[in-house]
Amino acid sequence: MTNNPLKLLFLSTSVGQLGSGLGGGVELTILNIAKELQSRGHKIAVVAPIGSVLESIPVIEITGDLQVTAQTQDYNDPIVMPADSVLANMWEYARQVQDEWDVMVNFAYDWLPFYLTPFFKTPIAHLISMGSLSAALDRIAGQTAVQFPGTIGVHTASQAKTFAFADECQLLGNGIDLSLYEFCNKPQSKLAWLGRIAPEKGLEDAVAAAKITGIPLKIMGKMQDEDYWQKICADYPDAPVEYLGFLTTTQMQEQVRQCRALLMTPRWVEAFGNVAIEALACGVPVIAYERGGPAEIVRDGLTGFLVEPDSVNGLVGAIARLDQIDRSACRRQAEVEYSLAALGDRCEDWFKSILKLS
Ligand code: UDP
Repeated sequence: MTNNPLKLLFLSTSVGQLGSGLGGGVELTILNIAKELQSRGHKIAVVAPIGSVLESIPVIEITGDLQVTAQTQDYNDPIVMPADSVLANMWEYARQVQDEWDVMVNFAYDWLPFYLTPFFKTPIAHLISMGSLSAALDRIAGQTAVQFPGTIGVHTASQAKTFAFADECQLLGNGIDLSLYEFCNKPQSKLAWLGRIAPEKGLEDAVAAAKITGIPLKIMGKMQDEDYWQKICADYPDAPVEYLGFLTTTQMQEQVRQCRALLMTPRWVEAFGNVAIEALACGVPVIAYERGGPAEIVRDGLTGFLVEPDSVNGLVGAIARLDQIDRSACRRQAEVEYSLAALGDRCEDWFKSILKLS
């Protein structure tokens, strides 16, 4: 328990309800940071779109229409605001209650919370969950970084480097509740792919690798782009793949831990890649394109393989070398580098530095 409890109001992503999967990895990140800091005695509440659920964390549900996702917009597109924007409504709520909180933490990858920062009396920390995707966001976040030093957090150095204000970012990494992931040393001859089914995730390359190797691929994750999925099915009608849907963490790790490897095939600079550390926690090696967050996580040849980006042959070659990996080394890496305690320490230090407490 901390002897200096903080009051922290989290403002969730506004592209989906917590629990829906639409928010991607940020949903798990919010839960994990909230759970860890709450267990240390800090007061936490999460403001989120109506219908959100977050285990034992108090959620203040806000009505309104969801924001569009930045991944589906072009870099120079203007910001889009629905008439009854849930994001605007969430920040109106925050404005009204700001005196009750020490720090407010923005998890939305959107322009408005950055723009509003100078208008609030209570300090706002921003945890940015993706790399550079929008000129408008790059500009306003850059201004925030200068005006409020130390208030911008990111997950990895590769993610930070996509922004002009890379040097101003606090590196927070990420972490998971390791007790929820069971180690498995005797996998079946299966491969896993986890994530939102959306073009930036490059699922078709994993399907192509499954087809070439003949090793069945279990696919789990939110169906975000049905047309994209149908095209993959049409292009690879006889690939040995099985789509299991969007699973809970418990169900997902039951499936993943039985697999020989997780394939990570992002086309974009993945900010972190929660699924990488979830697989490692089960003792599952990660075969990933050498770009973005996964390239900072995977220890090549020790806890998986980093292969040439966008190379299906690279994936196939790495699958052939999986016997070289000791699955206990994977679990160990997750325990040493990605525990909730370590993440909680980094977040606590970040919030205290914003409040000039340390
Ligand atoms: N996930 C899940 N159920 C599934 C597949 C994935 O809950 O069936 C979660 C997974 O735990 C992870 C998130 O989806 O937290 C994907 O996050 P990641 O950081 O890998 O990518 P993002 O979606 O943020 O780009």
